[in-house]
Amino acid sequence: ENLTQGEEDHIFRSRYSAVPVPKNVTLPEFVLHDAELYGDKVAFVEAVTGKAITYREVVRDTKRFSKALKSLGLRKGNVVLVVLPNVAEYAVIALGIMAAGGVFSGANPTSHASEIKKQAEAADAKLIITNDVTLEKVKGLELPVIVVADEPIEDAMNWKKLLEAADRAGDRLVNEAVEQNDLCAMPFSSGTTGMSKGVMLTHQNLVANLCSTLFGVAPEMVGQMTTLGLIPFFHIYGITGICCATLRNKGKVVVMGRFELRIFLNALITHEVTFAPIVPPIILNLVKNPIVDEFDLRKLKLQAIMTAAAPLAPELLTAFEKKFPGVVVEEAYGLTEHSCITLTHVQKDFGNAKRSSAGFILPNLEVKFIDPDTGRSLPRNTPGELCVRSQCVMQGYYKNEGETAQTIDKNGWLHTGDIGFIDDEDNVFIVDRIKELIKYKGFQVAPAELEAILLSHSSVEDAAVVPLPDEEAGEIPGASVVMSPGARESEEDIINYVASNVANYKKVRVVHFVEAIPKSPSGKIMRRLIKERMLEKMKPT
Ligand code: AMP
Repeated sequence: ENLTQGEEDHIFRSRYSAVPVPKNVTLPEFVLHDAELYGDKVAFVEAVTGKAITYREVVRDTKRFSKALKSLGLRKGNVVLVVLPNVAEYAVIALGIMAAGGVFSGANPTSHASEIKKQAEAADAKLIITNDVTLEKVKGLELPVIVVADEPIEDAMNWKKLLEAADRAGDRLVNEAVEQNDLCAMPFSSGTTGMSKGVMLTHQNLVANLCSTLFGVAPEMVGQMTTLGLIPFFHIYGITGICCATLRNKGKVVVMGRFELRIFLNALITHEVTFAPIVPPIILNLVKNPIVDEFDLRKLKLQAIMTAAAPLAPELLTAFEKKFPGVVVEEAYGLTEHSCITLTHVQKDFGNAKRSSAGFILPNLEVKFIDPDTGRSLPRNTPGELCVRSQCVMQGYYKNEGETAQTIDKNGWLHTGDIGFIDDEDNVFIVDRIKELIKYKGFQVAPAELEAILLSHSSVEDAAVVPLPDEEAGEIPGASVVMSPGARESEEDIINYVASNVANYKKVRVVHFVEAIPKSPSGKIMRRLIKERMLEKMKPT
């Protein structure tokens, strides 16, 4: 029975029995388990260039890169910032860093130089890995740079040359044992409030998350799965849920650096993709864009798509099922602070979760829903803040004890800032979000970051940024702004000012000038009220 008396009243667990999590293996060891047996099989292939990497090369280059990093002086716990789009070598780079005892921190390559600098500083990065396209953005950081490019570039180390040098180097390197409790990844997330911060994840966190999905949920897929690698690998879902999960299953990842509908459909067909993790805006494209009709969809080998990162509108689900009959739609829910996946759609012995449910609780997890005001846990069918406790909960935010303590309570529960409930058949529904986070096409946008940029404008006295609903993006950032008396700028000028300081996906897309920002007596921005007022003003008359 799910109801546990005592410390908490209502704790819910997975329908599926607990799965074992192997101890004393690092993430690279776990995912490359038995990889030598699949030496000739392609592990990664780039959809556009056709560049492919076999399992033999993944194993060899992970080791070579780890050795190269150690010979460069990388020590256990050092953070390496990876500023790359999805490329065939990406997972080898991340696993090589982890195998060397380093901590992989992925950054969005479309970020502004100033945003990359912030992440490098906040993470105390010791080394940068990038390509020839983004090299310019990291030049001002005064950190050693490795460039993944065919030809060497001045002032930067070349990845290929480093691997070759590693072959020639002796084995007399500092060898520090890497253990499961060591950090291996530091993705960035703004959590429930404030600025983007480093999420400290250990090998154990990620191995545990993979065990729950691979051993508990998915059907046995060894050697059979071809996964689409479109979700950014700098996001924990991309590196763990796509790269690591497929490697452990000895499948193939079809790598795409950015979304373009024709390339996407071509890739699905020519590489016989069976599993495509995507986000709702892409599903919208597949349903609405006439380009799709240029393709013979009967050629698809697609068995399932997985959609996560944001809610999927029920009408969109229905339209997709009509256009792509036979393709299973698996909704999933997760968050960076929980090592990626938390709820999933398929339970191999129990069938699928209900439509519009974000899924069932993964094996090995405990979940409760609390009243955000009283902290009391709630019974079934009663919406409350979803809290989760498991081996996948992050160690905390890097150098931020205050926000860590606000997010993980003294009993080990991670407070997600999402509102949901569980029904009588164990389906979990996510119905609202109480944290400040905005999700534009599944990408995180932190209101606090945009507010700081707005306030840096000499004519802006006060500002508040809130999520506004949008059919294509899910949510867009909207700002209410108080201008100083006599200011001349227009709302458009303010939109452009923010746009010149942030990556495209973070742009403020609506600005309203207001008299004052409503705040609670304790000084908290009243975001719900601001959102209502902005929506009221935007209503067509
Ligand atoms: P991230 O850490 O970038 O993966 O963002 C995690 C957040 O995305 C969650 O806390 C939710 O607010 C949102 N999210 C993820 N999956 C879903 C889903 N299936 N439905 C609704 N919101 C979701």
